Amino acid sequence: MKRAEIARLLTMAAAFDRRTLGEADVAAWHSVLDDLDFPEAESALKAHYADTREFVMPSDIRRRAIAARRDRANRAENARIMAELHGPKPDADTYARGFALAASALRPPDHDDDAEKTARWAFVRSVPCPYCGADVGHPCVRSGTQSPLRMTAGHPSRVEAAEKANP
Ligand SMILES: [Zn+2]
Repeated sequence: MKRAEIARLLTMAAAFDRRTLGEADVAAWHSVLDDLDFPEAESALKAHYADTREFVMPSDIRRRAIAARRDRANRAENARIMAELHGPKPDADTYARGFALAASALRPPDHDDDAEKTARWAFVRSVPCPYCGADVGHPCVRSGTQSPLRMTAGHPSRVEAAEKANP
């Protein structure tokens, strides 16, 4: 705080406690509180007289201002931690793009123009599956059912069999 701000602060204090003010008071208070900002000193003064009828001294202002700073820092740190924990919420566009990306990654190659993948699946299906018994050219099925496996080329043993048959 500048000396003019100290004078302003002491004028406010005088309104509460009827103290008399002089240049010496301003100089003394300035020597102790020059590193505080006026707004935080003003808040500390108000907090002091909201709390007690004791005549305010520079140490009261400093103690309350430093405590308030620590509170603000803690709140900011908590907010930062919470933001980190919960992460930013994706907007609708980001969500839609992410969904489309995930859906395309899961799409079976029958509906995919990825030629290499299609060729790989045809290669695996060039032999019958020793595990589920699927015929050549037919997809593997979930064991005990007729429901075809859509996410893989075939059972691991069929992949092995295909590789053996076509070294
Ligand atoms: Zn199979």
